Amino acid sequence: MRYIEPHAHMVSRTTDDYLAMVTAGCQAVCEPAFWAGFDRHSVDGFYDYFCQLTEHEPNRAAKFGLPHFAWLCINPKEAEDLKLAGEVIDIIPRFLDRPNVLGIGEIGLNKNSRNELAVFEKHVDLAARHGQLILIHTPHLEDKRKGTKLIVDSLKSDGRIKPGRVIIDHVEEHTIELVLDAGFWAGMTLYPESKCTAARAVDMIELYGRERLWMNSACDWGVSVPLAVPRAALEMRQRGHAAETVDEMIYQNPIRFLGQSGKFKLPGSQ
Ligand SMILES: [Zn+2]
Repeated sequence: MRYIEPHAHMVSRTTDDYLAMVTAGCQAVCEPAFWAGFDRHSVDGFYDYFCQLTEHEPNRAAKFGLPHFAWLCINPKEAEDLKLAGEVIDIIPRFLDRPNVLGIGEIGLNKNSRNELAVFEKHVDLAARHGQLILIHTPHLEDKRKGTKLIVDSLKSDGRIKPGRVIIDHVEEHTIELVLDAGFWAGMTLYPESKCTAARAVDMIELYGRERLWMNSACDWGVSVPLAVPRAALEMRQRGHAAETVDEMIYQNPIRFLGQSGKFKLPGSQ
């Protein structure tokens, strides 16, 4: 088996996790900028974090032969401070040319507040001006459908944004159609306690097809499973999906989306 982990917060994970992922067939890992579990209070904190994502973590992954890519932003959880958010967005262009940076993410909404939406739109503008791919986080539970709708409407109103260059992550049964029908890619996040189980993800693959869909573990500092993607692949096989179908879902699909950034290259590819 081979797979891409398109959304994992590796700065929170151990070297054992890297080893287990590579052993399971992981060919590349992509790390969106995320909330650290606590609020950072200065632009310098984000500057250091972006250095970690573009310098230190790729080196750590390379020790296991794993290509590491990153996405940059200020997370919606820290977007209530508009002054700080503006300062952080202003330093992002300094990092966009770094060789492992794929785009802007994971931006989005957390509580669907006015400030979050304003910061979301600033990030989308930044991505549009710099021709970057976009990776989007959607809110939890009861806020998810409303937040996803706000995000889709905002993106559709910006004529510069091509839906095929945007992935809206953490979709569930009540949001996946909304995302796919608008032409965006959708990500299913596999979590042991919240979000989506492997069984529910495979149900959605069977219901909605595989054309613009990927799965990720989003493993971070909380309860999460770095091997969630290969485990979901096992669930697909147990339910009778062909090996080729599984490969399309966990390897070829992420490459199709991420390959739109000229920087996403695997060793041995052109
Ligand atoms: Zn994440």
